[in-house]
Amino acid sequence: MSDIPNGFTGFKTHENFQALPDLPDLNVKYPTRNYNAKKLAEIPEDERRWAWVEVDLTAIRSNVMAAKHIIGSGCRLMAVVKADAYGHGAVRVAKTALNSGAEYLGVATIDEAIELREALITAPILILAEPPLSAIPLLVAYQIMPTIYTPEFAIQYAEEADRNGVRAPYHLKINTGMNRIGVRHDEAVDFMMQVSFHRALELVGTFTHFATADMAETLDFQIQTKRFTEAVNAMRAAGFNPGIVHAANSAATFRYREVHFDMVRVGIALYGLYPCQQVRHLIDLKPAMSVKARISDVMTVPMSEGVSYGLVYRSPGSVKICTLPLGYADGLQRGLSGKIGIILGGQKCRQVGIICMDQCMFEVDMRAYGNRVRLNPQIGDEVVLIGEQGDSVVTIDEMAHILNTINYEIATGFSNRLPRIYP
Ligand SMILES: *Cc1c(COP(=O)(O)O)cnc(C)c1O
Repeated sequence: MSDIPNGFTGFKTHENFQALPDLPDLNVKYPTRNYNAKKLAEIPEDERRWAWVEVDLTAIRSNVMAAKHIIGSGCRLMAVVKADAYGHGAVRVAKTALNSGAEYLGVATIDEAIELREALITAPILILAEPPLSAIPLLVAYQIMPTIYTPEFAIQYAEEADRNGVRAPYHLKINTGMNRIGVRHDEAVDFMMQVSFHRALELVGTFTHFATADMAETLDFQIQTKRFTEAVNAMRAAGFNPGIVHAANSAATFRYREVHFDMVRVGIALYGLYPCQQVRHLIDLKPAMSVKARISDVMTVPMSEGVSYGLVYRSPGSVKICTLPLGYADGLQRGLSGKIGIILGGQKCRQVGIICMDQCMFEVDMRAYGNRVRLNPQIGDEVVLIGEQGDSVVTIDEMAHILNTINYEIATGFSNRLPRIYP
């Protein structure tokens, strides 16, 4: 120790620690004493933490029914519930969608599919990509259909199913121009010839995905449609039944009736959000997600004093500063700082100062002018960060616009730290 310079005296020894008074006994089991576990569990999620995401399942039901109405009978609806149903809660949304007319579920990963199976959902579930080979036993065990585009996967999947005495149902992905995943559109027949010898394999569906269904320009969409139709026709001509043929995401479902085929895959529209401007006048959707919080502190900040990190915002003196217990770790992105409205008492107030990790602030104008109702913010008052209150609205689309992104990213961005509440 003597050769360590600069006055370093070494860590405290164990004996030193024991000499310190009143250290809690860290070896206890929590909760301590005789707390009643049931009582503790009864404290509702939105009272454990004054910030939450509220999901209106009747809006989801209404959006599913609107989509069903547009596609008509004879075309199935796949409810795309990947990414925890775009942040809305996969199990609750899946059950609502299935009860409202959806027949199929689409997810991105095996674990998303397993979550639905463990909630006792029995509808067909398609993983919209090819999982790793090593995950194949999970597909068979949970009866989850993979998307397939490599012969290796097809064969290994078939063999695992065979070993278990079950079929190996799958959907074939055809790449018609998005160039993300899939068998090339002019190689679909070759692919089928390579794998179809395996008796367990069962081609349940054939699909593609559009790169530009949400864009004003339509030529690339038409090229993809033509390639897809040709690939499916070639499969049929070669004696392969393509099964359920599907291509349309939300944008294509509402814009292009000609690509409905046997099923459409609707994601964003289920949640009441529009995939693009062009769809706005084609269907009436109801947004399902709100983000709410309760005020955790209220203070008077003298004129010219700053608020939050960097003290960038300065109080004009005529406002009260209200704090909310959510921040960028909850998905309220820091880039929104100073640019969003917070609705209190039906009036839109300005969020001010830098949004912190777990908290943010907004100002309430305390001046009296016109016939404006003056607000009197109190700790515990409910505010709306996304959604409606009185005559005021804040939308996910506004946030997406501020952040130069799309509504999908905002909805999926609210973290699991915010409980999902279904009123
Ligand atoms: C996510 C996804 C969809 C749903 O797209 P939306 O634009 O949300 O309707 C459909 N198909 C595939 C393959 C997807 O990955």
